Amino acid sequence: MSAYKSSDASLNPGIDASTRAGMMQRPLLISSLIEHAAKNFGDTEIVSRIVEGNGISVTHRYTYRDANRRAKKLANALKHLGVTKGDRIATLAWNGYRHFEIYYGVSGMGAITHTVNPRLFPEQIAYIINHAEDTFLFVDLTFVPLIETLMPGLESIKGVVVMTDRAHMPFAKIPNLLCYEDLLAAEVDDFEWPLFDESTPSGLCYTSGTTGNPKGVVYTHRSTICHTYAAMSPDAFCLDSRQVVLPVVPMFHVNAWGTPFMCPAAGCKIVFPGAALDGASLYQLFEQEGVTLSAGVPTVWLGLLNYMKTHHLKFSTFKETVVGGSACPPAMIESFERDFDVTVIHAWGMTELSPLGSMNRLRTKHLQLSIGEQLAIKAKQGTPIFGLELEIMNADGKPLPHDGLAFGDLMARGPWVVEHYFKEEMSPLRDGWFPTGDVATIDADGYMQITDRSKDVIKSGGEWISSIELENIAMAHPAVLEAAVIGVAHPKWDERPLLVVVKKPGVTVDAEELLNFYDGKIAKWMRPDAAAFVLQLPHTATGKLLKTKLREDFKSYKLPDA
Ligand code: ADP
Repeated sequence: MSAYKSSDASLNPGIDASTRAGMMQRPLLISSLIEHAAKNFGDTEIVSRIVEGNGISVTHRYTYRDANRRAKKLANALKHLGVTKGDRIATLAWNGYRHFEIYYGVSGMGAITHTVNPRLFPEQIAYIINHAEDTFLFVDLTFVPLIETLMPGLESIKGVVVMTDRAHMPFAKIPNLLCYEDLLAAEVDDFEWPLFDESTPSGLCYTSGTTGNPKGVVYTHRSTICHTYAAMSPDAFCLDSRQVVLPVVPMFHVNAWGTPFMCPAAGCKIVFPGAALDGASLYQLFEQEGVTLSAGVPTVWLGLLNYMKTHHLKFSTFKETVVGGSACPPAMIESFERDFDVTVIHAWGMTELSPLGSMNRLRTKHLQLSIGEQLAIKAKQGTPIFGLELEIMNADGKPLPHDGLAFGDLMARGPWVVEHYFKEEMSPLRDGWFPTGDVATIDADGYMQITDRSKDVIKSGGEWISSIELENIAMAHPAVLEAAVIGVAHPKWDERPLLVVVKKPGVTVDAEELLNFYDGKIAKWMRPDAAAFVLQLPHTATGKLLKTKLREDFKSYKLPDA
């Protein structure tokens, strides 16, 4: 093992090395997480649903000790493939144990794990792989046909590794098609994770690029470990070794919000759901594995909760879920808690923040409040996790009061916040703060609430109307399955809100009833001018409402008095 030296003496000007060297300068490295889990929680399980063969869902189980051994074999295999420090290795894969091994094998040996979102348009996938100059691509069987089509346009890929065994290897017109299990079988697990500078890049994720081309965010070993410490702490995920965690959020969506790093640090059992994210499959897995904590975007929970209500089911072990990625409607928080005894921890973050920024748990003083008052607090996106700072600013960059009323551009800074996008010269920072593109309020207790993404806010007669607030109200109506509110052009007011709704199956409701539902819940002038019904709403590759598409669809919509 090589000795490690702190790389940044510039932060200690005038202090000589003998005064500075009071404590060890052990680098913060991702390999330490799996090594810790293997040594101290060696027999703790990692359970995965895999889809191999004829689409039959199989459950695979092994332990942290096994995962560490196989990640080491993978690191040896990568070396033999010629992979060196800094190389980008792409994945197109579901949540599963092999993907987990890649997280550690690739980053642990000093290369960069680049998780690609398979739900993006094929042209975007090709753009991202070429932009990142990925050298090898690891794919689940599901995505082999996609890669077969894209392969001629993938300029830097030297080989494609199918994450399966020899028996399930597909026939595909892909040059240098390799078998994951063959690669590992040829290696020994005798490998010592190397020590290197903690600022070495470890991971790469692209923002989903709802407007313009996706941008790459390069995480480092240090940023990942700092994020892990903060995200697993009590007022955040509150992880300990007795938890059983099922990340529904994909490992290709900002590292499944950090769960594949937090779980080994805490020593908790992980349950990977694979490709089956429908209500029935998830429910069965939650019960079979005794899941206690989960994490995912609101749309996936809509599916699970509806399935459970239809079949009159209850959870036996599931206690808490982290919901984020887009605003969690209060009606969903209420239903989780009242109908299923599951506490919702509302969370906010973004690719540029690794991704966690804030999480919402109640304080002691909130416990005597009424259910309704508590719900109003839980609807907020929460307080910053330690290490991250949030501020709201006006257009001149001046901080605004933290009174829960003033709203402005939400800014973030901290050790796991982006400073430069991959291969971009210009830093997005403003006076050392990262502008998130969200508009928010912060109250006196530090609870932040997102009013809107700045591009989604509805500008009516010089005032701003929060589309999220209007959507949250609509979601509380018993006939509404999903709701979106967008601004539609208006000759007098510039823009007015239009409510677009997907009804629950088998119910009847008209526009008037939905619009009247706003009475008494919001100022009159904020009430949507009209409601339209659709069979489904457009979503992004990460399950959020795709408002750019919706605005396009309703571009020529005529409001009643326009
Ligand atoms: P993108 O969709 O741009 O790839 P991310 O997955 O990084 O990006 O999403 C980040 C954005 O998602 C945030 O800037 C914010 O607008 C939205 N978001 C995330 N969590 C929440 C939440 N709990 N409430 C409201 N908006 C959220």
